[in-house]
Amino acid sequence: MVILKFGGTSVGSAERMKALVNLISSDEKKIVVLSAMSGTTNKLVDICKALFNKQHQIANDYINALESLYLKEVDALYSKEEFKTKGIDLIKNHFNHLRSFTLDMFTSNEEKAILAQGELLSTALFYFHLQEIGMTAALIPALNFMRIDENEEPQLAYIENNLNLELAKYPTTTIFITQGYICRNAFGEIDNLKRGGSDYTASIIGAAIRAKEVQIWTDIDGMHNNDPRIVNKTHAIYQLSFDEAAELAYFGAKILHPTCILPAQKRNIPVLLKNTMQPDALGTVISNSHSEEGIKAVAAKDGICAINIKSDRMLLAHGFLRAVFDIFERYKTSIDMITTSEIAVSLTIDNDTHLKEITKELEEFANVEVEKEQTIICIVGNLPKNKAGYGFKVLEAIKDIPLRMVSYGGSSNNISVLVDSTQKKEALMALNKGLFGY
Ligand code: ADP
Ligand code: ASP
Ligand code: MG
Repeated sequence: MVILKFGGTSVGSAERMKALVNLISSDEKKIVVLSAMSGTTNKLVDICKALFNKQHQIANDYINALESLYLKEVDALYSKEEFKTKGIDLIKNHFNHLRSFTLDMFTSNEEKAILAQGELLSTALFYFHLQEIGMTAALIPALNFMRIDENEEPQLAYIENNLNLELAKYPTTTIFITQGYICRNAFGEIDNLKRGGSDYTASIIGAAIRAKEVQIWTDIDGMHNNDPRIVNKTHAIYQLSFDEAAELAYFGAKILHPTCILPAQKRNIPVLLKNTMQPDALGTVISNSHSEEGIKAVAAKDGICAINIKSDRMLLAHGFLRAVFDIFERYKTSIDMITTSEIAVSLTIDNDTHLKEITKELEEFANVEVEKEQTIICIVGNLPKNKAGYGFKVLEAIKDIPLRMVSYGGSSNNISVLVDSTQKKEALMALNKGLFGY
């Protein structure tokens, strides 16, 4: 079994959906995971915001505008009247369901139910297309098997059991279609795997059924050496280790959801990144095979908050760091980067929901300074600790940029620096020049 995940642009129009048929028509058994059509989830977020603010007219306008975008695709997607009618009925049902929310009190459960509509629509529309062209496939609802626990972790055993039950309903079928991103939570309510989560769905499914391979099909020919949205010249990397890919995904390479590598890595399932517009391009293979030595890529993660904790009591004291970490743990706030000196420790967080409470508790035994709008720039590769020169190369490339923190040696895959977000573009450009010669 292989898993193929197609992202928003890959299902972004009738034309793009039709172009997927060639990519899924081999005899191999496969589960095809689809995202919502591109732009849909953003629009659903806007609808939720309007409902939350009780702007019912605005919400209705957004719903009508999105519905007409979908209705426009019907003629291009289907040729037979029967399927056009099926498509229109499906779209109307989903949008009438969205309209029903505008009359009620708006809760977070309802928000999740609204955000799920994009993937429910794209998978059903694509499934009808396969039916129309006579391709046998089964549509299996992710909400019947994809589940997270109280800590928002996927429940792999539950997923494995329930997914296998779904697959067993169609013993002779080779193509299974399902929704990315959406799931149920520990209370059985509709929930999701966070924005960009369809990649995560694909690797969780791959791990659950021990697939041969997980393929992530998107609009670029693999993981590039730098963020192509920010710097002009970049190149695809043909091969990455799981650890290298996980660092890049976690530290901002948008092509992969931050946590999507882990499930595949745990069960040693290769992840292939491919381009739907250029299916013959090699793409990137992520696996546990030997990774060539050297710096391979850089990525940047915004929205970082740096916290500097300074105390004379740290001098020669043991237990200081434990006291600090204990506070972060109690507020379920994870720390990304950390640097220490004799009297101070600086660390970064990307979730400042509990910043006020954390700062208040830290201030009971230390002076605390907080700097927001910071960016972690992460330099990734196979950088053996016994080899000289990598740290120098990185720092030389960004010698003109003020560095707030530097982290080296945590793993042999990563050198991270923290810069003010206003310096991010310059830093990525300087690294592109200094490390990759562009
Ligand atoms: P999808 O909708 O298919 O999930 P995404 O938009 O989530 O696609 O991810 C693909 C995009 O990720 C690319 O179009 C590219 O702009 C962006 N991206 C950011 N960093 C990288 C990188 N290092 N390598 C490749 N793509 C990247
Ligand atoms: N549709 C969801 C989003 O836009 C999930 C995904 O595309 O991966 O975030
Ligand atoms: Mg994505």
